[in-house]
Amino acid sequence: MARRRMIYEGKAKVIFEGPEPGTIVQYFKDDATAFNNQKKGTITGKGVLNNRISEYLMNRLNQMGVPTHFIRRLNMREQLVREVEIIPIEVVIRNIAAGSISKRFGIEEGTALPRSIVEYYFKNDQLNDPMVSEEHITAFGWATIQELDEIVALSLRVNDYLSGLFLGIGIKLVDFKLEFGRLWHENGDMQIVLADEISPDNCRLWDSKTNEKLDKDRFRRDMGNVEGAYQEVARRLGILPESGPADVQGTDTVQ
Ligand code: C5P
Repeated sequence: MARRRMIYEGKAKVIFEGPEPGTIVQYFKDDATAFNNQKKGTITGKGVLNNRISEYLMNRLNQMGVPTHFIRRLNMREQLVREVEIIPIEVVIRNIAAGSISKRFGIEEGTALPRSIVEYYFKNDQLNDPMVSEEHITAFGWATIQELDEIVALSLRVNDYLSGLFLGIGIKLVDFKLEFGRLWHENGDMQIVLADEISPDNCRLWDSKTNEKLDKDRFRRDMGNVEGAYQEVARRLGILPESGPADVQGTDTVQ
C-alpha cells in the first residue's frame, strides 16, 4: 500500500497528496456528522458506497459536458481527482421544500417549489456556514461575478440532469449541495469545475412513490437503516458491488 502525505482531514473524507502533481486522493470515511459536528456517528460501509455513487454521478456528468475534478476511482474507498482551488461557497439547489428552507419559511416538507431555488452558504464551520447572497460573495471576493454566473449555470445543468437520472430509478431529487473549484491549466487558463462529491450525504433523495428517505436525513433524524438506504440508492443506480460493500485496507498515512 502506497504511503501518502495527508493534506487535510474533513468530516467525511481525508485528502491525500496524489501520485502526480496536480492530483489529490479523496478517501471516503464511514464517519457521519450533522448539525455542524454536534451529532457524530459511524455508518458502516458509507464510505465505500459514497465513493461508488459519487464516481458514477461524476462520470455521468462529465460525459454530458459538465466539467468535474473527478479522474478515476482507485479502490473501494479512494478516488483520484484533480487538485483545484476550492471556492468557499456551498451551493444548494432545491426542487422540493425540506430541511432548513421548510424551517426558515414555515413551508411543509414535501411541498414542490414553484421553481428550482439556488442558495449559497459560506463554508465556515466556526460561523455555522451562514447563508449568503451573491452580493456577499462578490463583495468579499470569494468569487467573481463571471465565476458565479458559471457556477449557477453549471448547478442548474447538474440539477436538470440528476433530477431526470434519479426520476428514472424511482427517486425524487429533493435538494442537494454542490461545491466548485478553480482548475488551473498549464497555459494559465482557469476553468470552474464541479468538486467534492455527490452522494446521499449531500442530497435529499426520496422514493418517488412512498417518499421514503434514502439519504443522510435518516442519520440526522435517527430514523435507522442509514446504510440500507445508501445501498438502495446504489442498487437502483445499478452499481452495488455484487458481494456487497466489502471493504479494503485504507492508505497508510504520513503526517
Ligand atoms: O439543511 P439544508 O436543508 O439547508 O440542506 C440542503 C441540502 O444541502 C441537503 O441535501 C443537505 O444534505 C445538503 N447540505 C450539505 N452540507 C451542508 C449543508 C447542507 O451537504 N453543510
